[in-house]
Amino acid sequence: MKLDTSNIIVFLGPPGSGKGTLSRLCVNRLAWTQFSTGDLCREHITNKTELGKNIDFIIKSGKLISDSLIIKMVEKELEKQFKNQSKVILDGFPRTKEQAVALSNILKASCFNQVKLNIVKLDIPDSDIILRLSKRMICSDKKCQTIYSLSDISLKPKVENICDNCSSNLIKRIDDEIDAILDRLKIYHLHENDIIDFFHNKGHKIITLSVNRPVEDIYRDFLTKLNIN
Ligand code: AMP
Repeated sequence: MKLDTSNIIVFLGPPGSGKGTLSRLCVNRLAWTQFSTGDLCREHITNKTELGKNIDFIIKSGKLISDSLIIKMVEKELEKQFKNQSKVILDGFPRTKEQAVALSNILKASCFNQVKLNIVKLDIPDSDIILRLSKRMICSDKKCQTIYSLSDISLKPKVENICDNCSSNLIKRIDDEIDAILDRLKIYHLHENDIIDFFHNKGHKIITLSVNRPVEDIYRDFLTKLNIN
């Protein structure tokens, strides 16, 4: 597989599997674009938009917001993302088979006819996810949202509770509480196989990355498997 055309890279993985962290490495080192539906939802909530008011409670509880709402958001954003960039990471979308079907349909539009889809599955046991999410902190600045870990030395902030990038305070996500974590994992596993089967049946190769190891190892493996020099 060679990434010599326009590409969408879909990161499929449970919450806390490192989709955001790996995306940010690709943004910083390869100048790709990351489009995180979770970040976009949190931005709406912070900006108190009409949509933000409707989804606030759902996000806090760790449930998924409706397919129709999220698909509308993605449709609107995706074209924008490709204006200045040819490699776009989808972080957190699709999360259901309906969303996978919608993505496939969106990409049939003429403006996307050169765009290739790459599916990357991040693999990690649930027990590691629970440990990770209970130690996760994020930047409170909604434009930044850099992710940190209090348990992984390579992801600790340089100054305690302060973002390395923008100096804002770090906070814990409300949905990183144990009940919401367990709900989110359950929801993820409910949809995972349907999404993978859908892409597999469409002829897309699914690349699997084992992610319970240091982030630099994951990044190197990712580059190798996608044939990026
Ligand atoms: P994330 O930051 O990707 O973990 O997403 C945080 C929350 O945003 C999720 O728990 C959902 O409530 C909502 N969300 C993000 N992406 C989606 C999606 N593709 N479908 C439905 N809800 C989503």
